[in-house]
Amino acid sequence: MNIVEKDRERYRKIFGERDKQKDYWVYSICSLCYGECSIRVRVLDGKPVAIEGVPESDRGAQGRICAKGVTGLMDFYNPNRILYPVRRTNPKKGLREDPKWERITWEEALDTITEKLVAARKKDPRSTFFAMTPGPTGGMRSNVTFTRFFPAYGTMSHASGGPSVMCGASAHHIGALHYAAWDIVPDYRYCNYVLRCGGNEGWGGGRNSSASVRLAAEARERGLKYLSRKWDSIDRHYHFSDGHLAGVKGYEFYGKMTKTYAKMKDEGFRQKATDFYVSIQIVGTPDECLQQVRELHRLTGVDHLITEFAFGGMPHEESEVNMRLFADRVMPVLQRDPAFASARPSPDARPTSDTPTGGVFAPA
Ligand code: SF4
Repeated sequence: MNIVEKDRERYRKIFGERDKQKDYWVYSICSLCYGECSIRVRVLDGKPVAIEGVPESDRGAQGRICAKGVTGLMDFYNPNRILYPVRRTNPKKGLREDPKWERITWEEALDTITEKLVAARKKDPRSTFFAMTPGPTGGMRSNVTFTRFFPAYGTMSHASGGPSVMCGASAHHIGALHYAAWDIVPDYRYCNYVLRCGGNEGWGGGRNSSASVRLAAEARERGLKYLSRKWDSIDRHYHFSDGHLAGVKGYEFYGKMTKTYAKMKDEGFRQKATDFYVSIQIVGTPDECLQQVRELHRLTGVDHLITEFAFGGMPHEESEVNMRLFADRVMPVLQRDPAFASARPSPDARPTSDTPTGGVFAPA
């Protein structure tokens, strides 16, 4: 049994006789960008019909694939997708020159490539230059080409980053020289600023874009979960909803909250109110928190913050992580960046009667 047959046998043991199944899921990785998120593809009657993330996996988005990942099916069914080898029949090259591609068989394609490689090897194997642009599954491709086939053939003349100005020809080399690493991930933990030129938070994470986005989404989800619970604790403490404050002299304003809080029993209203409440808090990733503090500072000129890291029944370990992350990544910027120094509120900052409040007041 050769190595391929052994591998097939191993998979047969794990997944069963797939060819005989009508409906099954194939586990794989998405190769539509560097994120390499884990995916599973549903195959129905031999045809892929759905793609989804794998929450149990620790690769990429860990269960939350992006919109592009879902469109993998469109790529598969693209009527223009080339499914067979073609040969150029027009030797003339140039702009607007039709290459006149002609369909050939796989045997013809392999024979042609073999003939050319054999001839070049006879002359001087080093005359063969191979190029590979790294990308998803690049590790696997380079294992086959760089480390096995071409050394055996007799050449190591290659461009590992692709003969272009893409990341492989620049960023990886700089990354290797500076911090001996291939990936381009901003050193979030030990820097005060990340300067992005033409990139955004997700893509700035290099091949970890989906992981960065997932971390941001999880931070917001946690905010929603615990802040939503905080509603209950606020009402339990102040008893806004029973209306008793309406009759207490000096507390009439709080009395007006009765109707709003009474509506919290309605799940839809509660969700809306929670969304609004979260939107006026400082929550999210360290970068998002800084953006929100910056906006608060712009609007009010506030020069100090009192922060709360544990609320809504948040477990102690989670609040400790919050606090440490804030101390590590947010506080140094607030303390050193002159943009956060004392300032007067901007003239356009005064809240107006149009300022949306959702009719909600909640002491934080
Ligand atoms: S981020 Fe999207 S396109 Fe990139 S690997 Fe993940 S699912 Fe695929």
